[in-house]
Amino acid sequence: MRKPIIAGNWKMFKTFDEAVEFTESVREKVPSEEKVDAVICAPAIFLPTLVDIAMETDLAIGAQNMHYENEGAFTGEISPSQLASINVDYVILGHSERREYFNETDEAVNKKVRAALANGIVPIICCGETLEEREAQKTEEKVSSQITAALEGFTPEEVNHMVIAYEPIWAIGTGKTATADDANAVCGKIREVVEGLYGKETAESIRIQYGGSVKPENIEELLLKEHIDGALVGGASLDQESYLALLNKAQ
Ligand code: PEP
Repeated sequence: MRKPIIAGNWKMFKTFDEAVEFTESVREKVPSEEKVDAVICAPAIFLPTLVDIAMETDLAIGAQNMHYENEGAFTGEISPSQLASINVDYVILGHSERREYFNETDEAVNKKVRAALANGIVPIICCGETLEEREAQKTEEKVSSQITAALEGFTPEEVNHMVIAYEPIWAIGTGKTATADDANAVCGKIREVVEGLYGKETAESIRIQYGGSVKPENIEELLLKEHIDGALVGGASLDQESYLALLNKAQ
């Protein structure tokens, strides 16, 4: 039985005071981590403070991106060892917004996954198709190639520490959700790809989230599906009540 994981992706939203207020207010209300993993992926500038606030609670804090080198002349970047040095637990990698606006490639995602694991950070690896690709029946081809590239060169034991997020690009921030059956079919395909690369046991244990306009009203139907083990949530994670409702419905 895979434990559900609900990760909020705050993107470039919230001021410092808003982030602190949210985290202080939800930290004691999130369900036990024995039942569900609760994560907030916040803007990097807030991470040290939020990690302190969430310390010794069931809330985990994640980053939204990082470089793949531990140090170097990369002005403006943040390294995996820097994130690890402030006890960040998770990092979102290869989000479609980073692929689209910041030219993040499959190769860079693969290097970042390796760097995250080397620093004890759980990578949440995103994949997903555009509307054009879906309409051209290229969804499976697209996510298979993204996942094959991201997972290249690991051991099954390393893959067990990863989380995958299937996020159809046309459903992100649009209010359009894939049907639970469609989302499950693609998550099932991703599990098949993992099985082909790393065997059945690894494929059965890796957690695969769905992301794309998930909210308290639709999360239960999605989580009932065989291959959907949680959600990566943008908009609905910005509001305390809705974030807590997502967690409570997932446990
Ligand atoms: C996301 O940011 O990864 C996302 C799925 O956003 P939203 O829930 O707003 O569609």
